Amino acid sequence: MSDPALTVELYDTTLRDGAQQADLSYTVEDRLRILHKLDQIGFAYVEGGWPGANLRDTEFFQLATKETLERSQLTAFGMTRRAGERAEDSPVLRDLLDAGTEVVCLVGKAWDLHVTEALRTTLDEGVAMVRDSIAFLRGQGRRVFFDAEHFFDGYRSDPTFAMAVLAAAEEAGAERLVLCDTNGGMLPFDISSIVTAVQQHAAVALGIHVHNDAGCAVANSLVAVDAGVLQVQGTVNGYGERTGNADIVPIAADLVLKMGAHDALPEGAVERLTELAHYVAEIANLSAEPRQPYAGRYAFTHKAGLHTSGVARVSRAYEHVPPEAVGNRRGVVASDYSGSASVRMKAEEFGLELTDDAVPAAVEHLKQREASGYTFDIAEASLELLLRRADGWSQPYFEIDSYRVHVEERTGEDPLAEATVKVRTKGSRHIESAEGQGPVGALDNALRKALTNDYPQLDTMQLEDFRVRVLDESVGTGAVVRVLIDMSDGEQEWTTVGVSENIIEASWEALTDGYLYGLLHPRSPEG
Ligand SMILES: [Zn+2]
Repeated sequence: MSDPALTVELYDTTLRDGAQQADLSYTVEDRLRILHKLDQIGFAYVEGGWPGANLRDTEFFQLATKETLERSQLTAFGMTRRAGERAEDSPVLRDLLDAGTEVVCLVGKAWDLHVTEALRTTLDEGVAMVRDSIAFLRGQGRRVFFDAEHFFDGYRSDPTFAMAVLAAAEEAGAERLVLCDTNGGMLPFDISSIVTAVQQHAAVALGIHVHNDAGCAVANSLVAVDAGVLQVQGTVNGYGERTGNADIVPIAADLVLKMGAHDALPEGAVERLTELAHYVAEIANLSAEPRQPYAGRYAFTHKAGLHTSGVARVSRAYEHVPPEAVGNRRGVVASDYSGSASVRMKAEEFGLELTDDAVPAAVEHLKQREASGYTFDIAEASLELLLRRADGWSQPYFEIDSYRVHVEERTGEDPLAEATVKVRTKGSRHIESAEGQGPVGALDNALRKALTNDYPQLDTMQLEDFRVRVLDESVGTGAVVRVLIDMSDGEQEWTTVGVSENIIEASWEALTDGYLYGLLHPRSPEG
């Protein structure tokens, strides 16, 4: 046996603290998808939100607690009772209980300044708020993690009070004392010395939750582990308010690949960190950060010249870890399927048996598509159709003759879109027109009308969401637009992608592939 393994548990708060980012908003469906992805990767805990804080969070917990998770434990976040209130009367704690998770993460004030100035109460009451709230939740059978808000600033300002808060949380039954750098201003040396000092007094395991305001969030999380904390909280891609939270992607890679924390994620999960980073960016409708450590598309891209030939000969001399270790690639877009192995793997996942000729054809199509702006990280329905087509498949359901859409500007009213679609199905020709709020809605309505006679199952299918992104990769040739469309038939959900210089064309491609995929994968008969 070599050095003893370091034990770390990862706690993801992408869905709660990460969702505080200004330009970010998730639908409930987005959140469920992220939850399942985090579960597949294998994070020990996934914080789903703050039940009661808004309707979306409450609705999320109603749905998420019914989902089956393989590896992650879903947690709910909330605040201690208010000053002068009884814990059993606290509506906030009530909402937390109603969310129905076994684990709750409760945040409380650990900085004297916040207690006296923001809460305008005494320090004793500040401590009691923490103690009572945790004791109440424990009494209701919940496991409790305690987030000590502004702990590091609090410890500097009044260590006696900050430690009294932790002691109260521990006595009341908290399983983790999570030290938060809520302002994000601490440096690694501060974190290291304060965690070490706290460690001497705490009997239960510590956690760390930091923000990136001083540019040190990942480093601060790692030094905290080095100083003895068990739990690390972070968000995928470092999403979060202001400059963001600690990015759990490099943290996980560093922990497993460099610090010997082999159990921080299940076997094989680190190799999926690039996929995770891109998946969440895509759902968030944000561009993946190309310079993100480990997962960025440039993370292993070397500048041309001597260096590149050196890399080809001795990659170890130029790369801190092999790109494959985190599922990334050297010098190319991370998620592309330029290898036949990944195409075969995907085909198997879809239950397709590709012929030998189909594999190189699919690789070629994928390369071309990705170079022109397609992404298949989420749009797996489009990927499946592409693989089938590469194998000579042509769809038997409908043939498009033409379509057009017309937007009418009306004075004093919202513009109205009207679409006409000419389609052939099973030998008969359908010409249908329909109106809609926007061009995509109008096209959707017209296409449905045209197809629904022959395919009544379209009634169950719905366009759930569509996202448009202008890609900057083609500056000079006119902007290219990428449209992602989510569809559902109430049983399954799927996503398709379309790319064009013309937004209508891109939408149309994603839309027709969306219905095609739905027809190809009918819902199981109702029993
Ligand atoms: Zn935070």
